[in-house]
Amino acid sequence: MHNTTFDVRTSGRDQMIDITPQVAEAIRDAGVVSGQVTVYIPHTTAGVTINENADPDVIHDMLAALDKAIPWRESFYQHAEGNSAAHVKSSMVGCSAIVPIVGGRMALGTWQSVFFCEFDGPRSRRVIVSVAD
Ligand code: ZN
Repeated sequence: MHNTTFDVRTSGRDQMIDITPQVAEAIRDAGVVSGQVTVYIPHTTAGVTINENADPDVIHDMLAALDKAIPWRESFYQHAEGNSAAHVKSSMVGCSAIVPIVGGRMALGTWQSVFFCEFDGPRSRRVIVSVAD
């Protein structure tokens, strides 16, 4: 098992950032040709998901849909920090993603990328990449 971390600096409250290059670099550094990679987000108001990298409107629409489903303000929220929506989005999206490694590369589909998901930015965030052979 090869574990590494890298940081992501977000610039908006809700944002999806393509971190595929950083994950690919971690796999290269680990020298694993056949195995799997786990991308893990050690935060309670952020997440990781895999989705389309071709049309940026997809990212816009996903963030907008999440925001509509989970509004920033709700009369029933009790969490004093005021970021309950970010916590809910984090758990909905999830804090880990697993991708098979085939031939030294992630077996992503043509249109897929790995996205770090910010739900309470801007902040400095950490991503843990665990490469297994
Ligand atoms: Zn909170």
